Amino acid sequence: MPDLRFKPERAKLTEIPRPKRAEGQWALGYTEPLNKNEQSKKDDDPLNVRDRILYVYSKRGFDSIDPADLRGRFRWMGLYTQRRPGILGNQTAALEEEELDDRYFMLRVRSDGKLLSPAAVRTLGTIGVDYARDTADVTDRENIQYHWIQIEDVPAIWERLEAVGLHSLEACGDSPRPFLGSPVAGVAKDEIIDGTSALEEIERLYIGNKDFSNFPRKFKTALTGHPSMDVSPETNDVSFVASVHPEHGAGFDVWVGGGLSTNPMAAQKLGVWIPLDEVPDVWAGVAGIFRDYGYRRLRSRARLKFLVADWGVEKFREVLENEYLGKKLDTLESPAAPVGHRDHIGVHEQKDGRFYVGLAPSAGRVSGTALVQLADLMDEYGVQGARLTAYQKIVLIGVDGDKVEALLEQLDGIGLTARPSNWRQNTMACTGIEFCKLALVDTKERARALTVELEKRFPDLDTPITINVNGCPNACARTQVADIGLKGQMVLSDGEQVEGFQVHLGGATGLRTNFGRKLRAHKVTSADLDDYVTSVVTNYLADRNDGEAFDEWVHR
Ligand code: SF4
Repeated sequence: MPDLRFKPERAKLTEIPRPKRAEGQWALGYTEPLNKNEQSKKDDDPLNVRDRILYVYSKRGFDSIDPADLRGRFRWMGLYTQRRPGILGNQTAALEEEELDDRYFMLRVRSDGKLLSPAAVRTLGTIGVDYARDTADVTDRENIQYHWIQIEDVPAIWERLEAVGLHSLEACGDSPRPFLGSPVAGVAKDEIIDGTSALEEIERLYIGNKDFSNFPRKFKTALTGHPSMDVSPETNDVSFVASVHPEHGAGFDVWVGGGLSTNPMAAQKLGVWIPLDEVPDVWAGVAGIFRDYGYRRLRSRARLKFLVADWGVEKFREVLENEYLGKKLDTLESPAAPVGHRDHIGVHEQKDGRFYVGLAPSAGRVSGTALVQLADLMDEYGVQGARLTAYQKIVLIGVDGDKVEALLEQLDGIGLTARPSNWRQNTMACTGIEFCKLALVDTKERARALTVELEKRFPDLDTPITINVNGCPNACARTQVADIGLKGQMVLSDGEQVEGFQVHLGGATGLRTNFGRKLRAHKVTSADLDDYVTSVVTNYLADRNDGEAFDEWVHR
C-alpha cells in the first residue's frame, strides 16, 4: 500500500501544476503518509480488520483490540467506540480519545436505499433488542445506528444482517460511506427514472473493494430519480440527479463537491447527461479522482469539496473524461432543485395503485422494539417493504388502499406516525453527547423536548420551519441548510460555560440553496432554546409577507 491506480501520464494530460506546498496527493507523487491516519491506512488495509474482529477480538474481548484497529480501522466495519457516560461537554476538547472511549460500540448498518423486507425490518429490530439495549436510530444517511454493542456480539450481529442482505461494511471511515437513494424509487407516480439498479451495481462492485477503501476522507454518495431531489444532493460528495435529455430520455446529471461541517460548500453540477447503465463507471471515476488527487496532508482539507473548489467544475469534468472514462460526456444541465418537502411524509398513491406511507419518528429516534412492532404491522397488513430517508424518516412501500386507514391508527400506537405536526416532521438531530465522542451538547432529547414544546406553543403552524440540532461543528444533521440550524457549543451564562448552540438562520436547499446566516449574537443556551425559537418564530409569523418562507424572510 498504497496500491496506486494512478498512471504517471495522467498528470501530463491534465497539466496540473505541482502545488507549492504538498497537499499529499498521490497522483502528484506524494505517496509517503503525511499524517497518522494516512500512515495507519498504509500500514494495513482497513478492510483486513474484519477477519481480526471475527476470529480474534470477538473471542478474546475488548482488551485484546490493537489500538490502531480500535480507533482507526474498526470504522471501516461501521464500528466506533461510543462516548463514556458521564463526560460533560466542556470536557470533550480537553480529554484524549482513549479517555473518552467506552468499552461499547456504536454500530452503523447501511441500507443504501434498499427496500427492506418485513423480515429485514424484524431483524434490524431484534438486533436492537438482543444486543443494543433496545437502541436503533434512523440516521439522515439512511442507516440504522445501534449503541451499546459489545465486541463479543459482532459476529452474530453480522450473521443476522447478512441473512437479510444487509451489512455494516464501510459505514464509517475514509471510504465510500452509505449511499442515499430515493425512498420512493420504482413506485412514485412522478418519478423521472428509477436508479435502484445503479446503486446496487455500485455496491456490488465497489463496497469492500480494496481499490476504493483508502480515500483521503469520507466519500458520500446520493442518487435520486425523483423530481423532489429527495436525497439532499447539495450536501454530498457526488450526487446523481435525474435529468431528461431531449433525444435520449431520462438519465442523470452529476453534482460534485458538496459537504457541510466547518467549511460548508454546496455541490456543483458538472452539467452532463449520463444514462442509467453508465452511472457505476462515472461513480468509479469521481471516486478515483478523489482517491488519486484528493488532499491527504491535512484532514481538515481532505474532503472532495476542497479539490472541486480549487479546480472548478470545468477542470474536474475534463479530468474525469480524459483520465478516468476515456470519453466525452453529453452536455446537459440538470434542472434547478425544487423547494419544499423531500421526506415523503403522509400517504401517497403509487404508480401501481397501491400507496406509500411516510412515517416520522421524533428526530430519528426509534428503538429495536418499535422496529419489531413495525415488522409485525407490515406482516399483518401485507406491506411490501420499507425504506429509510435522508431526513431521518421511514417510508412504507406497497400498502393496499383499503388497509391504509387502519394501518395509520396502528402506526400512531407505536410512535411512528404518518400524521406528524409540522414541528415533528421538520426537526432532525444528530447523535449528540449521549454517545458521540465529539459532541459538546445533548441533541436527540433536546430536539424531542423542543418539538413537544413548539407543538404546544404553535399548534397550528401553517408552513414548514426546519430545525436541525447538531452536537458540534461537524454538522452530521446538516446545520447550515435548516431554517433554524443549531450547532452545539459551550456558551457563557452567568460566568459559567454551559451547553448551548450557535444559531444559523435561514438555511435552505433546492432552488434557494443557501447557508444559514450566523451572527455573533446568535448563541443560545440549551436551557433557553425553547424561548429563543419561540421569539424567532413569533417575529417571522408577524412580519412575513404573503407566502414568504422562513428562509426568504431571513434573507429579505
Ligand atoms: Fe457527533 Fe458532532 Fe456529528 Fe453530532 S455533529 S454526531 S456531535 S460528530
